Amino acid sequence: MSHIAYIGIGTNLGDRRDNYKKAIEHLRELPETKVVSQSSVYESEPHGRARNWFLNGVVGIDTELDAKALLKKLQKIEKGMGRKPSSGKGSVSRVMDLDILLFDTEVIDSRTLKVPHPEIPNRRFVLLPLSELAPAYKHPQSGETVSSMLVATEDATKVVLYRP
Ligand code: AMP
Repeated sequence: MSHIAYIGIGTNLGDRRDNYKKAIEHLRELPETKVVSQSSVYESEPHGRARNWFLNGVVGIDTELDAKALLKKLQKIEKGMGRKPSSGKGSVSRVMDLDILLFDTEVIDSRTLKVPHPEIPNRRFVLLPLSELAPAYKHPQSGETVSSMLVATEDATKVVLYRP
């Protein structure tokens, strides 16, 4: 069965533009998966402990993988791109961060996988690109659309279109 999922991409170390491009190439190479939409790329002020500004964006995929198998593949891509295991909680610098934001209208709450990603309402750098691709998507728990979450978010950090 095919699924529509939205993947959040973030990078704030090394050649961010190249990292971003490579991550999309890796997503295109996933088995039984097509990249069907891509948001603009944004540059965003770091949250938490990170210092460098991030490049962030979202891609939509159509995949036969289930959510857990997809997460494993994303973690393999992150690792292959040189990501070190994160230490402790909070936003830290990373070569590549790939998050499953939405997976159809599934709600998953396991130790290793939470979908919809719990931080969506608190992250302007996710809501802005996601609102380009899926503005009317209704959060399966809150019933809020992506557009309304963007209007309502209390996240005041800066997110601007990336102009290299
Ligand atoms: P982070 O360092 O913020 O990328 O968090 C990585 C951890 O988040 C991994 O151990 C994942 O198992 C877990 N995780 C939970 N939900 C998700 C999700 N929706 N997408 C990606 N990682 C997730």
